[in-house]
Amino acid sequence: MTTSDRFATRAIHAGQSFDPTTGAVIPPIYQSSTFVQDGIGGLRGGYEYARAGNPTRTALETQLAALEGGAHGLSFSSGLAAEDSLLRAVLKPGDHVVMGNDVYGGTYRLINRIHGAWGIRNTPVDTTDLAAVRDAVKAEATRILWIETPSNPLMTVSDITALAEIGHDARLIVVVDNTFASPALQQPLSLGADVVVHSTTKYIGGHSDVIGGALVINDDELHEKAKFIQFAAGPVSAPMDAFLTTRGIKTLAVRMERHSQNALAIAEHLVGHAALDTVLYPGLPDHPGHELAARQMVGGFGGMISLSLSGGGAAARRFAESLEVFSLAESLGGVESLVNYPSEMTHASVRGTELEVSESIVRLSVGIEDVADLIDDVDRALARA
Ligand SMILES: *Cc1c(COP(=O)(O)O)cnc(C)c1O
Repeated sequence: MTTSDRFATRAIHAGQSFDPTTGAVIPPIYQSSTFVQDGIGGLRGGYEYARAGNPTRTALETQLAALEGGAHGLSFSSGLAAEDSLLRAVLKPGDHVVMGNDVYGGTYRLINRIHGAWGIRNTPVDTTDLAAVRDAVKAEATRILWIETPSNPLMTVSDITALAEIGHDARLIVVVDNTFASPALQQPLSLGADVVVHSTTKYIGGHSDVIGGALVINDDELHEKAKFIQFAAGPVSAPMDAFLTTRGIKTLAVRMERHSQNALAIAEHLVGHAALDTVLYPGLPDHPGHELAARQMVGGFGGMISLSLSGGGAAARRFAESLEVFSLAESLGGVESLVNYPSEMTHASVRGTELEVSESIVRLSVGIEDVADLIDDVDRALARA
């Protein structure tokens, strides 16, 4: 692998050199918690105990950094574990976080309830409104600007370059949750962000068979701090989980291409449908973030669509429960299509807060099945809504 290799090549080869002792093309899964020392302190390859490091995790961390074009990758036991480690690496009591007002519900819960209890304050703000973001920053106290784009579940698109400028003028650490786009479509570090966060459970893993999270960081000092939390608090990926994630990454580029094609076809098919008020998909020309998304995303608009049913909550529930090819389940980003009812599933934790999601909204994670079957399924279920 050379640094000039393009995305799909990096995804397959970064961190994946063959095993020198046997020639195995796929590096072995190092299912080992500890490593022999040749005399005290005589480590082979730098490994001593797998909470501190394991070769299978190192391979994934190298691959993650390469995907995002960053200097350092860190792999965690979940997306929220990655977020928590980053927050603890940066914040101390009294500090303040400015974050998007429709970030993932679990991110809000983590920052507001867990870190809130330790004296961290937060202001949720519409990150498409740059003036509102500037106003929300408190001199001296704000340390992090947390952006999610496209956002979950409303698919709003925020301008990473402009927000990074605002953040850096105020000396903040600018974090982008890149879970929805994946690095195949959007690379926030190249747009000025300091840290990329992933739930690798979603598109990066891609097969709904593993929970994981990642941080990709350019700054050496911040990387050392986050790595220290990972080592000292222990939210690491297990070797088998790291291996499954690595295997998923190798097909990320082709999967994202098909996810994007299928989602665009479904979104275009649904525009103007009598049972729908709105089709929220950044690939549609009349989506408010379309032009921005076309600039900051490359090669597609992703596989996530949200629909607002004109019949309200009851119709939305009937639709979600009538789909057959789409399975009713939390999560997203796998090869199989899923449907989620945010107000009672993924976003139940933000009910009654300013991040509450309307009962009319249904979120589709469009898989890579034959798109004709997906369209038939959606049409059938809308007819019952
Ligand atoms: C799922 C998700 C997370 C949390 O990740 P886990 O792996 O479930 O801990 C964070 N951000 C976004 C956008 C997500 O979809």
